[in-house]
Amino acid sequence: MRALQYRTIGAPPEVVEIDTPEPGPGQIRLKVTAAGLCHSDEFVMTLPEEQYIYGLPLTLGHEGAGVVEKLGAGVVGVEVGDSVAVYGPWGCGLCHACAQGKENYCLRAAELGIAPPGLGAPGALAEYLIVDDVRHLVPLGDLDPVESVSLTDAGLTPYHAIMSSLSALVPGSTAVVIGAGGLGHVGVQILRAVSAAMIVVLDVDREKLRLATEVGAHHVVPSNSDAPAFIRELTKGRGADAVFDFVGVQATLDIARESVVANGVIQIVGIGGGVLPTGFFSTPFGASVRAPYWGSRSELMEVLDLARTGQIRVHTERFDLEHAPEAYERLRAGTILGRAVVVP
Ligand code: NAD
Ligand code: ZN
Ligand code: ZN
Repeated sequence: MRALQYRTIGAPPEVVEIDTPEPGPGQIRLKVTAAGLCHSDEFVMTLPEEQYIYGLPLTLGHEGAGVVEKLGAGVVGVEVGDSVAVYGPWGCGLCHACAQGKENYCLRAAELGIAPPGLGAPGALAEYLIVDDVRHLVPLGDLDPVESVSLTDAGLTPYHAIMSSLSALVPGSTAVVIGAGGLGHVGVQILRAVSAAMIVVLDVDREKLRLATEVGAHHVVPSNSDAPAFIRELTKGRGADAVFDFVGVQATLDIARESVVANGVIQIVGIGGGVLPTGFFSTPFGASVRAPYWGSRSELMEVLDLARTGQIRVHTERFDLEHAPEAYERLRAGTILGRAVVVP
């Protein structure tokens, strides 16, 4: 089968021919219908050798959807032909966090060497994908796999961050979204669907701000050092009740810190490498800071239901597998609007 692999540190990923994998006991083979490209892949491919922990060659793609094509021994609960989305942050399934469906916070995954597809295990940017366990599949039903594959990360991750801040997002509150890319533009729609908050979106790119307005932002603001003052003005001096930073570089964390209201919340989702000093005289009284990772299994079901009822929609740009390296180049250059989705 053909697969997109990251093979050499620092080199672009390549389309290669590899053996089609066989599903072992308990595993499921999917014929991939769609795979999304995330900025985290970019992050992984820019790591120096001494920090790179994902193994080589690495078949990329941690947003995956497919049709069940072959069942390993003992698999029950899905049928050949089912259209499914893949829950990516695989855990052990047995620890306290996993028992709650929060496999993204599995207590034993690292120790047991369990890694998500595309981030250690072979990923979805291939013709076929092996899923380790049936519990990591969620039925798509009538949802279009290309339109919905990115909900497994670009939908699930902002959903998880937003739902854990929901108590701050009461009517009259303000939510600030920094970065209206793959995650951010879905985050705006989730905020619209689950809260009454006024939504202010910051980005450095005019096209991304245009998309943010299109998907429901109430205000859009260029992301620079004037942004906190602008947010204060919009909120009559109050500030933001919740800030969702989908970039996470020093400049955006500084904006987050300067914009948040006392007792507000900052969710650092972007892995831009910035540091946010937290404590008295660094952050306002009562403010909480969190760096959430991906989301839980039940949250993925809820995100797919938001799509089913038409409340959220991923803005996608399609590529075939041959053009996936070009899609990554465009992602790096910041010229993808919404999410790049590969249809192998
Ligand atoms: P993306 O490239 O699609 O979007 C990034 C957006 O940020 C773009 O619109 C870009 O114009 C904008 N941007 C860049 N610099 C900015 C700045 N200084 N101020 C405001 N906006 C700026 O990326 P994505 O796939 O949406 O991922 C966003 C971030 O989230 C990445 O760092 C990614 O690695 C991370 N991520 C984290 C998790 C998690 O579990 N925490 C999950 C998925 C992705
Ligand atoms: Zn991702
Ligand atoms: Zn676990």
